[in-house]
Amino acid sequence: MALLEIQDLRTTFRTDEGPVHAVDGVSLSVEAGRVLGVVGESGCGKSATATSVMGLLPRTATMSGSIRLDGRELVGASERELRGIRGAEIAMIFQDPMASLNPVMRIGWQLEEAARLHGRVPRAELRARAIEALATVGIPSPEERLRAYPHELSGGMRQRVMIAMALINRPRVLIADEPTTALDVTTQAQILELMRDLRREVDAAIVLITHDLGVVAEMCDEVAVMYGGRVVERAPVDELFARPQHPYTWGLLASLPGRNLAGERLHQIPGAPPSLRTPPPGCRFAPRCGHAMDVCRVDPAPALAPTGRGDAAAACHLDLATRDRLAALETGEGA
Ligand code: SF4
Repeated sequence: MALLEIQDLRTTFRTDEGPVHAVDGVSLSVEAGRVLGVVGESGCGKSATATSVMGLLPRTATMSGSIRLDGRELVGASERELRGIRGAEIAMIFQDPMASLNPVMRIGWQLEEAARLHGRVPRAELRARAIEALATVGIPSPEERLRAYPHELSGGMRQRVMIAMALINRPRVLIADEPTTALDVTTQAQILELMRDLRREVDAAIVLITHDLGVVAEMCDEVAVMYGGRVVERAPVDELFARPQHPYTWGLLASLPGRNLAGERLHQIPGAPPSLRTPPPGCRFAPRCGHAMDVCRVDPAPALAPTGRGDAAAACHLDLATRDRLAALETGEGA
């Protein structure tokens, strides 16, 4: 059974210009010991899905659907229940470390507090656990660093402290939202290794949100591709790279440097992502899709349907044979 199971999640933000449907019927699941990659351009609903799961939405947001953590329903849970779950059973790493660090408290206090809140570490061991957590994420002289305030650390160090805080209680589900974007290559490799350790040691389920398909290839078992607040393709990672089934995924893969012929310019998907306030009818990718047909521009949008290859599914009106033929050409593999 999936450790984290999201069914038909819909999250809407109220704005002065009207409602923004940031997450529009998303279903995802991830089992213990597995890594699910969630990819897509900025504004496609990846982060809104993550903050919905964590129960960290602003008051202007409404949410419906189902989010089950090890069988327990989180949609409709009280703030008190969610506080007990957050940080202990499910934790999140944000792209911006200042989103989870308190600027006026020393990091030692913050780490100890994260461990103390969930009562899993005896009081006498809190300091030792905080030191160990900093050492685990590769922070030199961890004892001295406990006394530092967040602003006294470099960006990379702050990112590591935030990761130490997320992992201090060994959560069973970790959501990592662009965890390595701002980091150098060496630190990035270390952070990915930490996530692998968590998966190995506590059989954690990891949701890795990223726009970096190289990281996806390296880390993930399954991938969900999001566009316009919806999942448009879902597949085991090898299947997604070998036989992508959605024109948007083709565009993402074609922009990978290794897929281009030497000397060719990197491919860019023309146009911009759709407005989530007034999305186009039918397939939301139609205005940017080189294969759009009349049927693509009328409601209802194509549903996520099995491609006949294992658990893979895609939401596109093109028939499977046409998709197979075009995929190689569009991603540069057939060049
Ligand atoms: Fe393109 Fe139509 Fe498929 Fe959408 S449904 S991706 S517009 S071919």
